[in-house]
Amino acid sequence: MKVFIVGAGPGDPELITVKGQRLLQTADVIIYAGSLVNPALLDAAKKDAVIYNSASMTLPEVIDTITAAVAEDKMVIRLHTGDPAIYGAIQEQMDALKKRDIAFEVVPGVSSFLATAAALKQEYTLPDISQTVIITRNEGRTPVPERENLRSLAQHQSTMCIFLSVHMLGDVVKELIAGGYDKTTPIAIVQKASWPEQKIVRATLETIVEEIKDKDISRTAMIVVGHCLNTDYSLSRLYAPEFSHMYRKASQ
Ligand code: SAH
Repeated sequence: MKVFIVGAGPGDPELITVKGQRLLQTADVIIYAGSLVNPALLDAAKKDAVIYNSASMTLPEVIDTITAAVAEDKMVIRLHTGDPAIYGAIQEQMDALKKRDIAFEVVPGVSSFLATAAALKQEYTLPDISQTVIITRNEGRTPVPERENLRSLAQHQSTMCIFLSVHMLGDVVKELIAGGYDKTTPIAIVQKASWPEQKIVRATLETIVEEIKDKDISRTAMIVVGHCLNTDYSLSRLYAPEFSHMYRKASQ
């Protein structure tokens, strides 16, 4: 196997998987998503590795670069931020590689919505509050199917992690309220989760736009909305004394 599509994790270079790091240390060619991948990760690369920043490349250029490297029997890594399956635009790359009969493997990564939970010290799936996490985005240049617009997803009142949308925060808030979230619902915004410059802003749907005004947050931020951010919840059954499961018998 010569081509690996690797999740770089959310920013902190220690949040790549052991496998991802090992591959990075041996790759001959690395094509990384320069707008979001922490360049510090590239310190692990071999001295003579050829490194491309895909921010200035088109899809055909990326595919041609991979194809040429494979023809020379080189090992290639396509490094994506977070986990490549989430807004990674990897499907079109994988399909193009399949068409050219180039074998590849995908190595998952820690997505930024999970690094955000870690930064917030927050569980997204609290009993009686929400057992569902919705990963979505507001419509931008990439269209979102009408049936999954924020307004309709908001009806579920589950925990929502909204990617790629902080620059449209005003619209996001309007849609969430129109969809059914109360104005007092808590919201948190985490910019650059796991990076040294990580910022956290907490507010309610009603106050967040004002709250964020002077915080200089316009990109690389996750919006989390939901009642899980309140402190009022029931305890999980998993560790309850009277609750037995496969690994533990009830003690009461
Ligand atoms: N594949 C990536 C997402 C790429 S889309 C993943 O799994 O995380 C880019 C969006 O991800 C950004 O607009 C932002 O919403 C979010 N994002 C990426 N890195 C982030 C980070 N460190 N902290 C907060 N949000 C981040």
